Amino acid sequence: METYTPVRAPRGSQRTAKGWIQEAALRMLMNNLDPEVAENPEELIVYGGRGKAARDWRAFHTIVDTLRRLEDDQTLLIQSGKPVAVLRTHEMAPRVLLANSNLVPKWASWEEFDRLDRAGLMMYGQMTAGSWIYIGTQGIVQGTYETFAAAGEKHFGGSLAGTITVTAGLGGMGGAQPLAVKLAGGVSINIEIDPVRIRRRLETRYLDEVAGSLEEAIRRAEQAKNNREAVSIAVQGNAAELLPELVRLGFTPDLVTDQTSAHDPMWGYLPPARSDEDLNVLRARDPEAYLRRAREAMAGHVRAILELQRRGAVAFDYGNNLRAQAQIAGVENAFGYPGFVPAFIRDAFCEGRGPFRWVALSGDPEDIRATDRALLELFPEDAKLQRWLRYAGEHIAFQGLPARICWLGYRERDRAALLFNEMVADGRLSAPIVIGRDHLDAGSVASPYRETEAMLDGSDAVSDWPLLNFAVGAASGAAWMSFHHGGGVGMGYSQHSGLVAVADGSDQAARRLRLCLTNDPAMGVIRHADAGYERALEVARERGLDLPSLGV
Ligand code: NAD
Repeated sequence: METYTPVRAPRGSQRTAKGWIQEAALRMLMNNLDPEVAENPEELIVYGGRGKAARDWRAFHTIVDTLRRLEDDQTLLIQSGKPVAVLRTHEMAPRVLLANSNLVPKWASWEEFDRLDRAGLMMYGQMTAGSWIYIGTQGIVQGTYETFAAAGEKHFGGSLAGTITVTAGLGGMGGAQPLAVKLAGGVSINIEIDPVRIRRRLETRYLDEVAGSLEEAIRRAEQAKNNREAVSIAVQGNAAELLPELVRLGFTPDLVTDQTSAHDPMWGYLPPARSDEDLNVLRARDPEAYLRRAREAMAGHVRAILELQRRGAVAFDYGNNLRAQAQIAGVENAFGYPGFVPAFIRDAFCEGRGPFRWVALSGDPEDIRATDRALLELFPEDAKLQRWLRYAGEHIAFQGLPARICWLGYRERDRAALLFNEMVADGRLSAPIVIGRDHLDAGSVASPYRETEAMLDGSDAVSDWPLLNFAVGAASGAAWMSFHHGGGVGMGYSQHSGLVAVADGSDQAARRLRLCLTNDPAMGVIRHADAGYERALEVARERGLDLPSLGV
């Protein structure tokens, strides 16, 4: 067996590939697997349970070699993390097209996926893992902040000051929760089973304190709440045990949610185990029995959330499909609390607003600082953005290549991208910038228990939209595009597309950026206008979209 050697993206303004897009793809693939970035790089696992960047190490090395020889008029095809072909296309075409974890709907179950995975025929791409634009926990911080800030605005008079949030899961993305709640002014108790994850969040300053027990965490949280002090507290334990324990103790938080990897009941969500029991043995010996255990645990977890909601907590699902798993295990009213998108985010989606991220290929933090300053000047009227960028500049630790994220909408992302391109061209930035986004975005995903939950016209499960988004990105000059299945909520529950663009300072880059970063967020406005959202129709009219069926 090959020995594992940690991977780290090259830095600087010299490239080894034939064009900057190929170089960007190579560096971003490597950056996804940087031990500072990935949750379990040795297994090629980036985040989200078992979201991988490449099928296996052999595939990884072949991708790297192929990107290095790829010409400016060729396109590399990736099928579930394996490079399968190089085609002659044209200069404006994407340099890489990726399809990860896609199954024909009738076969789209974890069982079938696992069979194919074991046979070496597939890998799970999650969202940005398989599409090489994951940037560590910082990537999700701002989206998580947007959600908690919106909860503060909607339910608590403007911020989360003087409130306590209870959540679980301090993994790759869940690890953003303590910082996001703190940023929104609140106190959080974060339950996590794995002490290594807790330590990691402490070290990267996403988390403030660890309590020795649940009771201690509650005491500390109440003290902070009374002082209106924003602080994050972790407690080690299983959410399926500690949430019911909260109910027994009679403690009701102001907000309750969860970000364990419940979307993957076999590998992501850990059911409680006796101290002398190794659940890996049960999983290997009797996967069905293991699944029942995991789902029963999730049922108890959801019942506790529903009870806390009944006692007055604002409960929302944080996009991990916990409710569906509990429903399978017999909790009939598992969907008695809403998902975070209909609860807090849909208005932003109507404006094509969503997570816009960029990465400095130079590796120089000064490049990100320069882009921060440029965006502060470009969008002086956006108070939330101003607050976020100033905070992030001071407090967010970089992981891997320096990167930034903020939420921008339709007719904003193209302006930001073109500005970055100018800054590369005139030397204000020392190397090209990679621009991408999460698949969790306004017009790129069909996920009835998450992004498209409770659509106005009932079109939650229509996945023509992410397919159109994938095609539009490819037709509009994206650097690489991906189409995935099962991200966020697991097999059978979602289809989504990812876009990455590169600002290398060239005229061709400007043309690509103008097209793809206008048309990509436009898909969010179009999708929501089509579903009848008034705000999306307004945006479409104001910002000049052409929607023939709506008379706009
Ligand atoms: P991850 O696999 O990196 O982390 C999951 C964490 O949960 C791990 O640290 C694990 O130890 C912990 N855990 C598992 N079972 C537990 C239990 N019973 N009790 C306590 N802790 C437990 O995954 P991630 O990247 O952090 O994502 C977590 C989930 O949140 C995924 O399902 C993802 O799809 C979802 N998610 C949604 C959004 C969103 O914006 N809606 C964003 C991020 C993640």
